[in-house]
Amino acid sequence: PGTDMSDLSIASRAVIRPISEIARLAGIPDMAVESYGRYKAKVDPSLLAARKDRPGKVILVSGMSPTPAGEGKSTMVVGLGDALTAAGSKTMIALREPSVGPSFGMKGGATGGGYSQVLPMDEINLHFTGDFHAITSANNLLMALVDNHLQQGNSLGIDPQRITFKRVTDMNDRALRHVVIGLGSVTDGVPRETGFEITAASEVMAVFCLATGLTDLRARLGRMTIGYSYAKAPVTVDDLGAAGAMALLLKDAIKPNLVQTIGGTPAFIHGGPFANIAHGCNSAIATNTARALADVVVTEAGFGTDLGAEKFMDIKARYAGCAPDTVVIVATVRALKMHGGVTKDELGKENVAAVRDGLPNLARHVSNIKKFGVQPVIGINQFTLDTKAELAVVTQWAQAHGVECAVADVWGQGGQGAGDLASAVLRTIEEPSNYAELYELQLPVEEKISTVVREMYGAAGVEYSAKAKRVLEQIHANGWDQLPVCIAKTQYSFSDDPTLLGDPGGFTLQVRELIPKTGAGFIVAITGTLTTMPGLPKVPAAMHMDVDGNGNAVGLS
Ligand code: ADP
Repeated sequence: PGTDMSDLSIASRAVIRPISEIARLAGIPDMAVESYGRYKAKVDPSLLAARKDRPGKVILVSGMSPTPAGEGKSTMVVGLGDALTAAGSKTMIALREPSVGPSFGMKGGATGGGYSQVLPMDEINLHFTGDFHAITSANNLLMALVDNHLQQGNSLGIDPQRITFKRVTDMNDRALRHVVIGLGSVTDGVPRETGFEITAASEVMAVFCLATGLTDLRARLGRMTIGYSYAKAPVTVDDLGAAGAMALLLKDAIKPNLVQTIGGTPAFIHGGPFANIAHGCNSAIATNTARALADVVVTEAGFGTDLGAEKFMDIKARYAGCAPDTVVIVATVRALKMHGGVTKDELGKENVAAVRDGLPNLARHVSNIKKFGVQPVIGINQFTLDTKAELAVVTQWAQAHGVECAVADVWGQGGQGAGDLASAVLRTIEEPSNYAELYELQLPVEEKISTVVREMYGAAGVEYSAKAKRVLEQIHANGWDQLPVCIAKTQYSFSDDPTLLGDPGGFTLQVRELIPKTGAGFIVAITGTLTTMPGLPKVPAAMHMDVDGNGNAVGLS
């Protein structure tokens, strides 16, 4: 087993310390630590001494437009965190919690890989501390109350055909996308068509991750719109009186979960919203708690700078005040080759010219981060098959363009493989940044969308479907114009067409749908096709999983 390089095998051979030791290392007083077994704990932020005058610096890890395999952002967060710890910086990591659905479907877990993982990997990927369960329950309590309201006379006049909120479950289960409920007799509920979403795509998850504390959590839950009345007026959770009970169900879940990396760096793993329909970052509470404890906090936003990083800055940082001091853009030779026109089965062969041809994609990601007044650092995630000549294309380009850049072998060597990257990051955060969000909130929604689309994606303009135009009118009429926008777009391209690689430019982005998320506090603009309930592939990852007679996981990745 010593030579098995699977993530699970490396994780199970790693030395893991009791969580009380890790908490002490992070400077968390015993009374704030609530242990969940030996290696996990929840931390009560209200029992920590505030360090408002000098919060830790924020290093956001984002990426170039990825290949379907993922370019290793989580892996880089962990490896960079361990490298910063090794360099003597007081470091904490803040990552998202994995969702069970994708773990058993196609993607695998989200706890890093190789020698850059968070531990205990199996428990984090499975039920962890039950946060997803709590979020699912809070969401489904709301829906039980909505349907009961219809049953008990519907005094709010909710139009059953205009209920937009859905039940959720943390599973990839396409058969639940469209369901009819309330069948049976008059005592069995009011029949209506509805559906399920995966928990990670729910607005409750987004609210959970943007809330700055319990009071804010309750207020945001109350502002969520569940649907519309017969008079077409929005009906909120507060109209229904459900926010208190929902917040009650979340009171323990909202405390960040403490674990450790293979290198012994303390890590918060908390909250896991999707990066398309939601903003794709771990909870604001975890990030800010980490900043109260450590000098540097390494955190992640889903997908590339066009999606995750843009939303981190325009949504999360705006609400939670955690603007990044630098952004590490994870680049890989294989993704550059793909943007340079190489097909999937040829990615393993050396192709220096294709790496060069793929650079325009990376270049736009670099300029995207600079538009926020933040200096990026390129972190090349090294793979075994990368050649010196291929890696040199990227480092030379970075040097010629005055961008800090380092090759990191975090997968193969953990923190030891990211010493140069850690130095580059530390140099960069020494310099003050001129951080500013990309747009002002008071701009009309259409202008906010067109700013992101032009500045981040390089598009020529935006076109709205007839349906989206109708919702725009509703947004103006209901006074939701002041909210930031959250654009749901493919992660593979700057455009809404996943096959347009590189830096296509000049295209027109099609906005099919607009969905106001009045509790989370953003307007989702949907481009291309998007599902909020993923399906399973032909051979789900679950088919390779098992548990041995001693309770050890088999086949988790
Ligand atoms: P992302 O966060 O960008 O989706 P992850 O960090 O989850 O990507 O990595 C995706 C998968 O790729 C993981 O299974 C991880 O083990 C693997 N991986 C990441 N970096 C490397 C690398 N340098 N070499 C080999 N495998 C890697």
